Amino acid sequence: MSNDSLLPSYDAETIRRLDKAHVFHSWSAQGQITPLPIARAEGSHFWDADGNRYLDFSSQLVNVNIGHQHPKVVAAIQEQAGRLATLAPGFGNDVRAEAARLIAEVAPGDLNKVFFTNGGAEANENAVRMARLHTGRHKVLAAYRSYHGATAGAIALTGDPRRWASEPGMPGVVRYWGPYLYRSAFHATTEAEECERALSHLRDLIAVEGPGTIAAIILETVVGTNGILVPPEGYLQGVRALCDEFGIVMIADEVMAGFARCGEWFAVDRWGVVPDLITFAKGVNSGYVPLGGVIISEEIAATFADRPFPGGLTYSGHPLACASAVASINAMRDEKIVENARRLGEDVIGPELRALAERHPSIGEVRGLGAFWALELVRDRETREPLVPYNASGADAVPMAELAGACKVAGLWPFTHFNRTHVVPPCTISDDEVREGIAILDLALEKADAHYT
Ligand code: PLP
Repeated sequence: MSNDSLLPSYDAETIRRLDKAHVFHSWSAQGQITPLPIARAEGSHFWDADGNRYLDFSSQLVNVNIGHQHPKVVAAIQEQAGRLATLAPGFGNDVRAEAARLIAEVAPGDLNKVFFTNGGAEANENAVRMARLHTGRHKVLAAYRSYHGATAGAIALTGDPRRWASEPGMPGVVRYWGPYLYRSAFHATTEAEECERALSHLRDLIAVEGPGTIAAIILETVVGTNGILVPPEGYLQGVRALCDEFGIVMIADEVMAGFARCGEWFAVDRWGVVPDLITFAKGVNSGYVPLGGVIISEEIAATFADRPFPGGLTYSGHPLACASAVASINAMRDEKIVENARRLGEDVIGPELRALAERHPSIGEVRGLGAFWALELVRDRETREPLVPYNASGADAVPMAELAGACKVAGLWPFTHFNRTHVVPPCTISDDEVREGIAILDLALEKADAHYT
């Protein structure tokens, strides 16, 4: 510890030793994980404790939308810590009110009230609770190939293997297939066909489950960790229409897709759709302090005008989190970060990745928008056999581990999941940094091509 600091400043070896002894890590076999000690970060980069620099193509867990260590967001947290570091949720204060006002201002339609949480899972838990109480119904339709968080209810809503160990989980979840033309559950061959069949599947499901039992349909507006699945034109509008027809609450999970990631404040804006509830976290303040929440329509908020909402969290509307959200949203506006993400997708990331696909046979599909892209890797473009099997681990996952390893050695921190590598950098990344990262990916993809049949 230095004389003027209250905080430790350990070398890499000490961090590794203390971490191994005392930190219990998420989603990991504790004996197998060796976390990389990180010393600092700035903009689109972070540095490990040995001085190696990495270009962050993962935005950590796709949350650092505004880039690392944005000076205004850091300063706002420091200023707020000096003013008032904590406050119970029942009180009002300036940053809490202003954060809610700004979030309502950038949200679509009449979504004007914000319930603050500490992250995305809690936001989804509370959105479902609101929908159930609002409708007096209990079922929730949730998609396969989705992720909604790791708490008891949110993991039950999740439609990927992360939920398996927590099953049977929350009662009342009914699973449906969302659109994903490349691996269509409906054997569709065009986006229009996929859209029409996905909506008709949802309509059939509502009929057989009983419309009067269904409280909500939850969906990731653009599916994130399950492959950056951009919905076909008309799909979200169709879901909105089904919800209106049957009195079902539409919950858009924008935890990953919101706050600039898709080149819009919220991904739903791209299709002009106004859900009843939007859940958010990550990009709202780039995770500088844990924060999430539910943005609530006037109609649903009115349900709780004379009737208490039976939910709460000690740290709901935490002052440090709200201060960072205020500074972050203002900086996003001032620096046109939403517009930058849209331009990056259209002019830089999309074209560069499509050019990669011409050179690498293992790239089966390129898809995305804004600063939210995926390369889906295959062993064979004709059969679309994935480069590694669904839910691959251990020896099965080696080709993807080789790809990730080659990126890291060359100074690029990738985001890989199953047979995909996602290109999800900060929305503030420069064009040159994007090109630098894609040049590294270009070389690393030879590892994937080596497994092409
Ligand atoms: N919803 C989506 C779409 C997510 O991507 C995530 C996290 O990645 C969550 C919810 C859960 O958020 P948190 O980890 O903050 O609980």
